Amino acid sequence: MASYDVIIIGAGPGGYVCAIRCAQLGLKTAVVEGRETLGGTCLNVGCIPSKALLHASHMLHEAEHNFADMGLKGKSPSVDWDQMKKYKDDVIGQNTGGIEFLFKKNKIAWLKGWGSIPAVGKVKVGEEVHEAKNIIVASGSVPTALPGVEVDNDKGIVVDSTGALSLPKIPKKMVVIGAGVIGLELGSVYARLGAEVTVVEYMDFITPGMDGEVQRQFQKILGKQGFNFILGAAVSGVEATKTKAKVNYKLKKDDSEHTLDADVVLVATGRKPFTDGLGLEALGVEFTPRGQIKTDAHWATNVPGIYAIGDAIVGPMLAHKAEDEGMAVAEVLAGKHGHVNYDVIPGVIYTTPEVASVGKTEQRLKEEGRAIKVGKFSFMGNARAKAVHQGEGFVKLIVDKDTDRVLGCHIIGPGAGDLIHEICVAMEFGASAQDIALTCHAHPTFSEAVREAALACGDGAIHA
Ligand code: FAD
Repeated sequence: MASYDVIIIGAGPGGYVCAIRCAQLGLKTAVVEGRETLGGTCLNVGCIPSKALLHASHMLHEAEHNFADMGLKGKSPSVDWDQMKKYKDDVIGQNTGGIEFLFKKNKIAWLKGWGSIPAVGKVKVGEEVHEAKNIIVASGSVPTALPGVEVDNDKGIVVDSTGALSLPKIPKKMVVIGAGVIGLELGSVYARLGAEVTVVEYMDFITPGMDGEVQRQFQKILGKQGFNFILGAAVSGVEATKTKAKVNYKLKKDDSEHTLDADVVLVATGRKPFTDGLGLEALGVEFTPRGQIKTDAHWATNVPGIYAIGDAIVGPMLAHKAEDEGMAVAEVLAGKHGHVNYDVIPGVIYTTPEVASVGKTEQRLKEEGRAIKVGKFSFMGNARAKAVHQGEGFVKLIVDKDTDRVLGCHIIGPGAGDLIHEICVAMEFGASAQDIALTCHAHPTFSEAVREAALACGDGAIHA
């Protein structure tokens, strides 16, 4: 039996980052991981493989739609789907291997297998029981099930996001259930590879929680890229054969019933915390009604010595949120002051164009009765965006009417996922729109659009 200062259960972005920080702070650290490779959902079946496929399919889209216009003539590349999947798997391998290297470098023990907590201070992996002064649960999440819909990733007809990353072949017709981030990213991949993609969504709008103007513009742009949207529709069931599926849904506005045919149905209706088999209930660990482990402001559960982070607890299910919690809880355990500012966690959709947001939406601030100013700038006025065929979209900056302090930003346009961080830093420093407007931004860059939106909060944008 080995004894550690900290044992972390789960090697996703929450767990592995936490382990590295614990080791850096001098704590003897082990991580339990049941998968064959480190990196969790994010590196194996989430953020990284989806971005590899988005990149490859975006290249094809550029070749098919924009090359000729730029004087690049000739036949567009044909798609070798098996090779594309191999490229995606290579990207996964490089990244998961990188975490293994970092574990060795930081002398972190990887306890291979599925772990449970038989008692406070003990972690069981296989037949072995290890001791730890503190245990951190970073067991992540899994896709939610939809009543009447049976997912079978091996058959590849009705799949969740994991199955959608490794389909045996590119479908001709794909139905995506759920117009959230995962459904739209993976739908984009297959739309670009030639599938006819129909998204069925229960709400009357896409990407719930996003700024309303961004939602509408995003839907319009995706529509032009070939997406069909059926909104306000409740899926009642999916009937699958060996090669095809039928999606039955009811329109909320008139209760009429409809059916869609598909070669592949992607169920992307959300994710739920995964805590099965850990033995937390027996220890008396408290959960929220949504199955999230309850923690206090220092990620401690109600049971002394047991902490939890990432997708398994309350908050946005995002890799960077899990990472920040991992670093912060490590600092708490090392006697420092770990902190996460939950008001400044960016959210990004990696479609083309990208969509990114941080802080509150205009609708939310108005509901709160807050006096605000909104500065908007269209990428049509940004020279660089036009040069790369991405003039659609805008930056929308929301600031306090009296103090000019930045309260939120919503971007749809090229590089939005990187641009948003200027605003994150501004918000962390309590900056005003004027601070951003007075900062010199290099020309020609997409970031000039952020500055123009800041100028629009004051005396006006220049290129509007
Ligand atoms: P996870 O990454 O889920 O890792 C938990 C790990 O714990 C798993 O490896 C699991 O095997 C292990 N585990 C669980 N129980 C046990 C046990 N008892 N014993 C041993 N091991 C155990 N987020 C972003 O921020 N950006 C994106 O672009 C993005 N894209 C995504 C795309 C897809 C298709 C999906 C599905 C998700 C995406 N996410 C994205 C979400 C992101 O993957 C998660 O928020 C993130 O992985 C959560 O990290 P975590 O450490 O909490 O858990």
